[in-house]
Amino acid sequence: MSGFEAELNERLRAVREQALHRELRRVDSPPSARITVGGGTLLNFSSNDYLGLANHPALKEAAIRAVEKFGAGAGASRLICGSLAPHHELEAALAEFEGTAAALTFSSGYATALGVIGALVGKDDVIVLDKLVHASIVDAARLSGAKLRVFKHNDLDGLEQILRWADTRNKSSTASAKRPRTLIVTESVFSMDGDLAPLRDIARLKERHGAWLMVDEAHATGLFGARRSGLVEEFGLADQVEVRMGTLGKAVGAAGGYVCGTRALVDYLVNRARSFIFSTAPVPAAAAAAAAGVKLIQSAEGERLRTRLWALVNQLKDGLIQAGWPLPAVRSAILPLVIGGERKAMEIATALREQKIFVPAIRYPTVARGQARLRVTVTAAHTPEDIAAFTEALGRVSNLKSQIPNLKS
Ligand SMILES: *Cc1c(COP(=O)(O)O)cnc(C)c1O
Repeated sequence: MSGFEAELNERLRAVREQALHRELRRVDSPPSARITVGGGTLLNFSSNDYLGLANHPALKEAAIRAVEKFGAGAGASRLICGSLAPHHELEAALAEFEGTAAALTFSSGYATALGVIGALVGKDDVIVLDKLVHASIVDAARLSGAKLRVFKHNDLDGLEQILRWADTRNKSSTASAKRPRTLIVTESVFSMDGDLAPLRDIARLKERHGAWLMVDEAHATGLFGARRSGLVEEFGLADQVEVRMGTLGKAVGAAGGYVCGTRALVDYLVNRARSFIFSTAPVPAAAAAAAAGVKLIQSAEGERLRTRLWALVNQLKDGLIQAGWPLPAVRSAILPLVIGGERKAMEIATALREQKIFVPAIRYPTVARGQARLRVTVTAAHTPEDIAAFTEALGRVSNLKSQIPNLKS
């Protein structure tokens, strides 16, 4: 035992030396625009609850009602006796929201990626990922056993090159009777950079090469498209994307993950997605809260919240650009302030926390080494005064900023 402890402490020391150590911070309030940490109140710019639904009365009410009617736990996996009415109601609501024939929910977005990718491709197939996709997709790709190829972030030439290689490989394959497949996976809005994938061009390439396309809408659901279902809808690509996935834990305000597509896709996943089959069904409260979130997103209130969010994002962007921060030109609620060094990013985050502002420093392995950043997220629960307080506090710690290479003034 003591050798084990010593070994882990040695490994932790290495993590600390690289300024990569992480620790949990206890929050004693709902995860809203203001959070209570260590007895004090911080203005929170780190949440993915973009529309402020996680603490919305309609979602809380739905969760409470589900607990009263269906209990606290689901009791078993969906295929045993855990497929409770709230799960079916949520899946019907998601299919309608996304305009697809069917939808299937999982216990998390992470479990969704793991289950879906592992069910769709195996060792004879090829999986092609954008360099910056979420860890859940990378892990799923590795676990699937498929041949993994990565293209530079949003690089269509790189993607095409890989697809051409996969064509020749798949044609010459005699490995099995089953025709080898190529699956491309990308995010629509990238989680740590806030930029958008060129989905129309990717869809054109995948059609040309007969590949399949899976899009993770984790940071787009609720924010993009006339019906607010995501970027696939906004780009009019619903018929060209074989698999759309998302999480119910971000703009939807609850917890869980989902896939939507054809009935055959959902039927197949129920039979083949291991993270769905071999895991206890989500608690009914989570499913009911998510269904309430999906409904709210589509309501007039949902549209008001989205409009409010974009106004706040624009206010913050203007302030940051004036202060000389380079930002992606696209519209997104995620604003990455790239610092570079891990230690410097931690220093600025700490200085901001002293100013009562909470923004986490995002470091390796969430982003590449030397690409540490403050990932600022805005939500509809913020006020214009909150945004102003943030830019002022950032200005006060700007003596730290001036030491960051390749930043104006
Ligand atoms: C957050 C996230 C996930 C995981 O979803 P959870 O519900 O949090 O497990 C998957 N993909 C992307 C792009 C994400 O940002």
